[in-house]
Amino acid sequence: MLDSPSSLSQRTVIVCPMILWISLILVAGSGSSSCWGGQTIYVKLLVDDEEVFRDEVWKQRLRNRLEKASEIIHAYTKVRFSVIAFDRWDSDDSVQDFIESLREFESKAERGPARIAIGFTSQYQLKQGRDQLGGTRGAMHSHILLREANPKVFEPDRLEVLVHELGHFLGAAHSPDPDSVMRPVVADGRARLKSFPIRFDPLNAEIMRLVGLEIANRDVRRLSDVSPNVRTKLTVQYDRIARIFPEDESTRKLLRLLDSPRTAKESSLSPSQAPLRPLTLPKRVPAVPQRLVPHRLTP
Ligand SMILES: [Zn+2]
Repeated sequence: MLDSPSSLSQRTVIVCPMILWISLILVAGSGSSSCWGGQTIYVKLLVDDEEVFRDEVWKQRLRNRLEKASEIIHAYTKVRFSVIAFDRWDSDDSVQDFIESLREFESKAERGPARIAIGFTSQYQLKQGRDQLGGTRGAMHSHILLREANPKVFEPDRLEVLVHELGHFLGAAHSPDPDSVMRPVVADGRARLKSFPIRFDPLNAEIMRLVGLEIANRDVRRLSDVSPNVRTKLTVQYDRIARIFPEDESTRKLLRLLDSPRTAKESSLSPSQAPLRPLTLPKRVPAVPQRLVPHRLTP
């Protein structure tokens, strides 16, 4: 766990305290600010009405997790994520499907004043076998939903799931690299090993670096708004991933988003904004393995 309770990164406060106030004012409208040579993406963290812990407990738990995830991602890109607000939403007890839960979360949870709303639902327990742990509709989408309460999933796994979904926010696709946080099946126990750092594969690292520069330098809000030069470079990276991992649809989905024309209403869900395939658990959740074994990918 990280110790800092600050909602703004310590580096931001130290480097440019004068601009901090301006940034906080701008945040209400934009959900992001730039003052340290990079970009801070402000996040609202939400739990549903099934969260059993007191407010101060779950807020600290999720703030710590986001700060850890932000540090991991910042090693690859100029972007940081920082908490600016907390909230709750009332999830429908009858919903037992992840995609339906994501749709409900998007309709009930306002992201303002942040740029992203990240929801942690404890509405229903994971089923035996493969199940969805998290999901979003694609790069730079306004909402990310994650499954929270489950005795089979531990804090290191939850951190890895959060890093995975924030990777999607920055344009990362699923990877066949069994050591990459962007492998499509996680919570396989490996994140609990001290010898297993949460890391991105080189192709996704380059994608995130490029997208992060666009966000930091031009405040790009959509993948389709990147500059022509970056679009060409991203297409090359996505094509490389598609060649080595043709069975996964996330790369094709991100390529479609890269080419999507701007729409007037960001929240309107065009066919290209169908959710990325949700992140899943392996069929059987193993105990922490004694030695690393090749990771099986979802069919
Ligand atoms: Zn994914």
